[in-house]
Amino acid sequence: MQYRTLGKTGISVSRLCFGALTVGPCQADLSPDLGGAVIAHAIERGVNFIDTAQLYQSYEAIKTALDRTKRSDTVIASKTYAYTAELAEEAVEEARKKLDRDVIDIFLLHEQESEHTVAGHMPALERLYKYKAEGIIRAVGLSTHRISGVKASVLHSLDVVFPLLNVDGVGIGDGTADQMAAAAREAADAGLGVYIMKPFGGGNLLSKTEECLRYALSQDYAASIAVGMQSIDEVEADLSFFEKGCFPPEIKSRLASLPRRLIIEDHCIGCGSCERVCGQDAMHITNGRAHCDTKRCITCGYCGAACPETCIKII
Ligand code: SF4
Ligand code: SF4
Repeated sequence: MQYRTLGKTGISVSRLCFGALTVGPCQADLSPDLGGAVIAHAIERGVNFIDTAQLYQSYEAIKTALDRTKRSDTVIASKTYAYTAELAEEAVEEARKKLDRDVIDIFLLHEQESEHTVAGHMPALERLYKYKAEGIIRAVGLSTHRISGVKASVLHSLDVVFPLLNVDGVGIGDGTADQMAAAAREAADAGLGVYIMKPFGGGNLLSKTEECLRYALSQDYAASIAVGMQSIDEVEADLSFFEKGCFPPEIKSRLASLPRRLIIEDHCIGCGSCERVCGQDAMHITNGRAHCDTKRCITCGYCGAACPETCIKII
């Protein structure tokens, strides 16, 4: 496994980052024990970087993995939608408590769109920087699905930016993959630590996984690539690709037979919460219940987190 330093943070991360959205209730909904076992396997095989968020509800699985592996050097990045100092404090304290850690390595403002949304979250951002000054956070940044979000991270001289990037640009809200890659490279040139998300377009590009990973790995300015994994097979497949440039054939065929899809269960009450959080304009309420446009959906699972009836699943 290769390791690279995230910008000027001094934090060394494995090129493969474990994206922990997949193990939590937004997606595979593994028990903390099962999710923890998958994460622990990745850590034992050299992955030292885990990306999560307040929204993902995967702290318990991560803590299970950290307890199991007894690796105190595992780097954890989390994110919050907080826009006030108080909400930022709640987010950081929740992470510290649930992960049983004094220090959270990286804390990001979640899904920022532009310098305007960053300005609207300034009290939270300032609180995160205060935590950094106190030694409770090592680096501060933002995650984004938009090129304008990456530009905002440079404008505000953040430590880290975590943009969405994949070979087809699936899910980029304001441009192409080339444009996003150029913005991310500029951020890295400006000294920010860059790691990228959704190399498979949130599941939409699973038919060409090799091309997706080749493209992600070719982004040489990116210290790491966050890949969502929900089984030991997936961990082994991704490790093999990152280390040898190919998937083990037997694992590849097993995984190919496992399609992912979004399911809306019958007890949908048509409340519209899912429609409101969907950044892809993929979810709509018709005839009193939710319907998903699979051509637009990037299976991010955010609608599932917002559903009060827990009737959305991605499997
Ligand atoms: S419908 Fe929207 S929010 Fe739900 S998984 Fe698809 S893209 Fe994400
Ligand atoms: S949030 Fe859940 S209950 Fe509400 S409309 Fe969407 S799927 Fe239905």
